[in-house]
Amino acid sequence: APAPPPARHLFSDPAEVEALRGNLLAWYDRCKRDLPWRALAATEPDADRRGYAVWVSEIMLQQTQVATVIDYYNRWMQKWPTLQALSQASLEEVNELWAGLGYYSRGKRLQEAARKVVSELAGQMPRTAEDLQKLLPGVGRYTAGAIASISYGQATGVVDGNVVRVLCRLRCIGADSSSPAVIDCLWDMANVLVDRSRPGDFNQALMELGATVCVPKAPLCGECPVKQHCQAWRRKLFGNPPKVPDVEDCGFGDCPLCPPATEPWDSSLGVTNFPRKAAKKPPRAMRTATCVLERRGCHRAPEYLIVQRPSSGLLAGLWEFPSLPLAQDLQEEREREELADHLQAWLGRPVAAKGLRFIGEVIHIFSHIHQTYVVYSLPLDGDVTLGPALSPSRWVTEDEFHASAVSTAMKKVLKAHEKQRREESSPAKGSKRKRGAKAQGAGST
Ligand code: SF4
Repeated sequence: APAPPPARHLFSDPAEVEALRGNLLAWYDRCKRDLPWRALAATEPDADRRGYAVWVSEIMLQQTQVATVIDYYNRWMQKWPTLQALSQASLEEVNELWAGLGYYSRGKRLQEAARKVVSELAGQMPRTAEDLQKLLPGVGRYTAGAIASISYGQATGVVDGNVVRVLCRLRCIGADSSSPAVIDCLWDMANVLVDRSRPGDFNQALMELGATVCVPKAPLCGECPVKQHCQAWRRKLFGNPPKVPDVEDCGFGDCPLCPPATEPWDSSLGVTNFPRKAAKKPPRAMRTATCVLERRGCHRAPEYLIVQRPSSGLLAGLWEFPSLPLAQDLQEEREREELADHLQAWLGRPVAAKGLRFIGEVIHIFSHIHQTYVVYSLPLDGDVTLGPALSPSRWVTEDEFHASAVSTAMKKVLKAHEKQRREESSPAKGSKRKRGAKAQGAGST
């Protein structure tokens, strides 16, 4: 069996654990933010509804800021206040509400899991972290722990990005925080620390501390309620790590939790020496040609053709302008020809590559993909009848486009198209775009 982690990286003194819990909870009671899911979890008498409310908030909060989530959360809970209501929603409705939150598969899995609870578990949420993780698709160790502790009072810890940062600083853990050795150690530590009588509040307090005080770049150590337990802070003040009596000091040699010998403590970084991560793989570069096909609808208002993406993979089930992934380093002429062929399948008639108007390039960064959309437009005259459909498609007005389940990237594409149109209608500004230029006004995320 692997050797246990050196004691200076752990919380082995029960008196210190007790003091830390007390300080953190007292701070949380004074300073916690009012958030709609907290209010619901604290006041809702029905355990299943409590669990559902926390579950929705936790899934939405993964990778997304609290400020963004609040509006989505309120609209979601208004539309589907219970698991039963969500289980009857269509994927289209879920995608529409989720649009802009990113990671669309999470909304989809939430709905699939709600259906499972209703159809296979008699509408009752599992009550422990172990069962939640085992029985609900899309519920991992963190979400299971959060639901179980906040909704059902199970004394189980949680480890998310905020908790990783706080714990690594509290115990000077400088090995790669995504390595299995560190992750296991942090879960053990979270389970030791969690307050037995207020586990949900304790877990939220630890996450709140990471989100508002122990922040990544400029932590507010002076205001921190647990600074007296923080080894990183002490090390910043006093230089060397404190000696722990009767325990072999680590930090040199082969401790699996200390910073590697090749990247020792850097005093200019202070507490932000922790946590450390292995260098991320750069995102994969992809190019996709996309075309805003436009016709005149009622009262000559513009309408756009949108088509639905496959039901699995990136942006599953969302709607987009007809798009075609491109090989890297394709010549412009060839790009146009391939896009024209692709559009022909939708329109059921030949499309001249030369008729495609180049708008610009829109960059969108997904977590693992650096996507460049090469945007074209094609105005269509007269009656347009779609050819034999490859997958669902429809014409939408601008308002309908924004209300549909379309990705943020496609909204940027439409914005670039509109910007181009405005420029063209203003003679002073009208100009031909150069290839490689980012479409103005489209922005990138
Ligand atoms: Fe984070 Fe500073 Fe508090 Fe330590 S003292 S936990 S580094 S905010």
